[in-house]
Amino acid sequence: MDKTKPIIIAIDGYSSCGKSTLAKSMAKTLHYVYLDSGAMYRAVTLYFINNGIDYNDPEAVTEALGYINIHFERIDGQNHTFLNNTDVEHNIREMRVSEHVSPVAAISAVRRAMVRQQQAMGRKRGLVADGRDIGTVVFPDAELKIFLTADPDVRTSRRHLELAAKGIDAEWDDIRKNLLERDRIDSTRADSPLRQAEDAVVIDNTLLSEDEQLQKAMELAYERIKEAGKAD
Ligand code: C5P
Repeated sequence: MDKTKPIIIAIDGYSSCGKSTLAKSMAKTLHYVYLDSGAMYRAVTLYFINNGIDYNDPEAVTEALGYINIHFERIDGQNHTFLNNTDVEHNIREMRVSEHVSPVAAISAVRRAMVRQQQAMGRKRGLVADGRDIGTVVFPDAELKIFLTADPDVRTSRRHLELAAKGIDAEWDDIRKNLLERDRIDSTRADSPLRQAEDAVVIDNTLLSEDEQLQKAMELAYERIKEAGKAD
């Protein structure tokens, strides 16, 4: 019986619910790979902005996708996103990217290209991924699916602090508007809309500290890892 069989943990939810904080901590604790799927959609958006690609033009999008290479590297213990071998970890968090990322992520050709790469990263399991469609589309067979929610004002304040810590200036009201608009587009798009998988465990972290949230999620993870070992 192998109790350490690696599993896949899918964390989905609304914008700025603390998905990446939880996913990174879980990956670190379990020595798993962390996959920031949102960073990939952000990197595609940055490419479109920097190269003046009209994302409403399907031909231009398809052609541009052929020139986009995204990979991740760990630098000083932090996850960095690379777009065509340039570190764009900082740039992809800027508001100019946040303002366009949801329409870009609604394009089926973009999703197909990103999902293919995400699934390849999970082939060996031992991965924690966060996003909007991880438990429903990318890894529907994930052993643990978590759906995070939190109050919109709390989410806005957390995002505001996070951006300030990165030296990115943004108004509280603009951030709130952007979060809610992205939630709206992400939940109503035709391809892979954000929704809770039927077998997901919901965690509302409005009143939870990061440690409390991590503890709750890790209890679930250890339970599922044990089950996966027994099933072998
Ligand atoms: O996670 P993050 O907020 O960085 O994601 C940015 C945007 O990327 C989301 O608002 C959503 O439009 C898109 N996204 C997606 N599917 C994912 C992850 C992110 O459509 N799995």
